[in-house]
Amino acid sequence: MIDRVEELFRRQARAWPQLAKGLAGLAQARTRTVRVDWFEVFIRHIPHRVGSTTAAVDRETIAKRPCFLCAGNLPPEEEGLEFGDFTIYCNPFPIVDRHLTIAHREHRMQRIANQIGTMLDLAATLPACFIIYNGPQCGASAPDHLHFQAGLRQLLPIVKETSGLTGIAAPNYARNVLILRGRDRSALIDRTERAIGLLAETTGEQPEPMVNIAAYEEAGEWTIFLFPRGKHRPEVFHTGELTVSPAAIDLCGIFVVPLARDFEVITGDAIAAIFREVTLDNDRFREVVAKLEREP
Ligand SMILES: [Zn+2]
Repeated sequence: MIDRVEELFRRQARAWPQLAKGLAGLAQARTRTVRVDWFEVFIRHIPHRVGSTTAAVDRETIAKRPCFLCAGNLPPEEEGLEFGDFTIYCNPFPIVDRHLTIAHREHRMQRIANQIGTMLDLAATLPACFIIYNGPQCGASAPDHLHFQAGLRQLLPIVKETSGLTGIAAPNYARNVLILRGRDRSALIDRTERAIGLLAETTGEQPEPMVNIAAYEEAGEWTIFLFPRGKHRPEVFHTGELTVSPAAIDLCGIFVVPLARDFEVITGDAIAAIFREVTLDNDRFREVVAKLEREP
């Protein structure tokens, strides 16, 4: 599949001007690395992300617009690769190399229920990549159409930073994240679904708690990063101080900043504060960790 994805990018970069523009934009993106405590964040200035960062995702706005993931609404040049019930497309607004959007063939709500297996299968099929899910109320710009994203994971700070950790939480990491690993597909699906169930119980959010998820596979072992959210957008977004709206890729350590003036001034400490603000608070997070740790 990875060869077919490479070929898809080559073909689509020639045939689809919007993708060519996005790839050129990514090639020109400026990245600045900041260190916070023991971890790093790559701050990436990508002007073409401003639409996604500021996208209105309220029900009324979503209901009025034509869905940009439905096959009937795609630009005529756009083509994809079949993967089960999904189609793999090149993302025309890339944050990382080989940024893909993986959309269900039917227009149906963004929901993680019964889809962890799809993420694991995608991760195994695209071995150099990470696969992400952004919940409908915390990062998905199409909350009404089930989809994942993928991209090359070589730059993702979280992969290296957590590789030596054995617990299910990363201490002093600014953002609260559950780290679930395993070689047994169905056991890992069960454990991840259990974690999501506990988060739903603790937060009272139905039908699913606010989560961002990233998954990858290496040498037969899957790793899932499950970021429980406390809120969608940080206060600095609402006040207009910073135009940033973190989702899975940002929480994995590539922090997207679409505006040049923000890129110049944003600090590592400000990003750590945003991570703390948007992920689930420590009390409720620890409660879920304790429950999960008590289970086999
Ligand atoms: Zn749709």
